[in-house]
Amino acid sequence: MYDVAVIGAGIIGTFITRELSKFDLKTIMIDKENDIANGTTKANSAIIHAGYDAKAGTLKGKLNAKGNAMYAHVCEEMDVHFKRIGSFVIASNEEEMESIKELYERGRKNNIPHMKILSQEEVREMEPNLNEEIMGALYAPTAGIVSPWELAVALAENAADHGAEIKLETEVLGIEKNEEGYVIQTNNGEIKAKYIFNCAGVYAQEINEMVAPRTFTIHPRRGQYNILDKSTGNLVNHVIFQAPTKLGKGVLVAPTVHGNLLVGPDAEDLDDKENTATTRDRITFIQKKSRKTTTKIPFGGTITSFAGLRAVSDVGDFIIEEAKDAKGFINVAGIESPGLSAAPAIAEYAIDILKGIIGDLKERKDFNPRRKPVIRFMELSDEEKSEIIKKDARYGRIICRCENITEGEIVDAIHRNAGGRTVDGIKRRSRPGMGRCQGGFCGPRVMEILARELKMDIKEVVKDRKEAYILTEETKQNKSEEARVENLEETKIS
Ligand SMILES: Cc1cc2nc3c(=O)[nH]c(=O)nc-3n(C[C@H](O)[C@H](O)[C@H](O)COP(=O)(O)OP(=O)(O)OC[C@H]3O[C@@H](n4cnc5c(N)ncnc54)[C@H](O)[C@@H]3O)c2cc1C
Repeated sequence: MYDVAVIGAGIIGTFITRELSKFDLKTIMIDKENDIANGTTKANSAIIHAGYDAKAGTLKGKLNAKGNAMYAHVCEEMDVHFKRIGSFVIASNEEEMESIKELYERGRKNNIPHMKILSQEEVREMEPNLNEEIMGALYAPTAGIVSPWELAVALAENAADHGAEIKLETEVLGIEKNEEGYVIQTNNGEIKAKYIFNCAGVYAQEINEMVAPRTFTIHPRRGQYNILDKSTGNLVNHVIFQAPTKLGKGVLVAPTVHGNLLVGPDAEDLDDKENTATTRDRITFIQKKSRKTTTKIPFGGTITSFAGLRAVSDVGDFIIEEAKDAKGFINVAGIESPGLSAAPAIAEYAIDILKGIIGDLKERKDFNPRRKPVIRFMELSDEEKSEIIKKDARYGRIICRCENITEGEIVDAIHRNAGGRTVDGIKRRSRPGMGRCQGGFCGPRVMEILARELKMDIKEVVKDRKEAYILTEETKQNKSEEARVENLEETKIS
């Protein structure tokens, strides 16, 4: 029997599991998908918000500011890039100037440090590519950018290094309460645990209702994005939001930690919790909307588009509490934006609830908060590069020509705890396929390496989700080649 089961391996589940691994507890993290961070965590704006947006006194307000302050340290421990580049909320008319002043006041109530309302001249000086009409901006220097899926993978790895079990492709289908705790029914057998954290994202309502009456609802709200080539990544230096108006929040333009440019999202309420398709009309809409910020985005440099689902609750705030009439079952639900920013603080808050139920937890003396560093070949000096190639020749073979990723980095991404098993899993860990050609050249090489290292048939290698096979059958040429060889053999016999 496990002490704790965490349902969901997104940024919330992985932060909580890593936090639990600091204590003497038998922990398991379960996810229905075949990789860490395959839900909302892989598809969002990746902004660590400063924290001025949420209303004072809400959990969102408290935990965003606290989480933001924790980011630099945790990303350093996890060896994941985090850049505190600051954010602007731009205003193009008097009404929007009023709106950014309101945000400034809200930020002051949330104790957000170093905010400032910038004049038109200051905006131009700091962001020369923005539109001339912009009258001013709210500047929040503590906002940052991160790679959410890299962080979630790193947290899962650090937790697994300390004995936390990770069970993927394991969908929770039902949960029974008993004297000892809970029995979780999955497509992969039963899992018994004394305590449960429900971190199931858009499905947190369904999981809650397996043990408790309905106390909240969650519906998906889709947001779509364009990602542009690295040649446009320095068009802006900060995260640029548009001032909220009666018509909505507007779209953001921001560099990513890896130097691309991100434009989006829109907001569209849906019923389908699996619908992460992108659509032409919505992508055209965000492109048009972005022109309010700058008309200089060369959308011809778009390398891909994607969509993510916000887990919107009817409560209007994060729901982090023990479920009604279900002792030891803790909901961490309705974690829409700023959920990523608040995630480290959410994990501490959720563990405090557990401590309130079972008393103080025994800390592990051997806990190492640092993940084994990742070798990023292109970030090494020439001397370091030749040293590493001498030790392991696979670091001398470039697999991804766009991002210059070596075979050594891909093999490492497969064999770490919580390692990648899919083409996109490898792409999210070490970036082959993230460049301009989007895996057109390196995709087949990555498949070969996955098949070789995991000792599986190459036809079993999937792109991302279960059954997303890339090779389905042999090509006509191969079939006709086989037939020719068979004919030859028959000729020899006769
Ligand atoms: C468009 C968009 C933009 C955003 N931008 C930002 C931003 O810039 N900054 C910010 O702070 N936040 C942002 N957010 C919010 C942020 O992305 C989320 O708060 C965060 O990713 C939520 O993480 P999670 O772990 O709760 O959910 P998820 O990442 O969705 O994880 C839930 C996991 O539960 C698993 N699961 C579900 N049901 C089951 C089941 N039955 N059995 C087993 N496993 C199950 C899923 O497979 C999934 O992996 C944005 C969100 C969206 C959609």
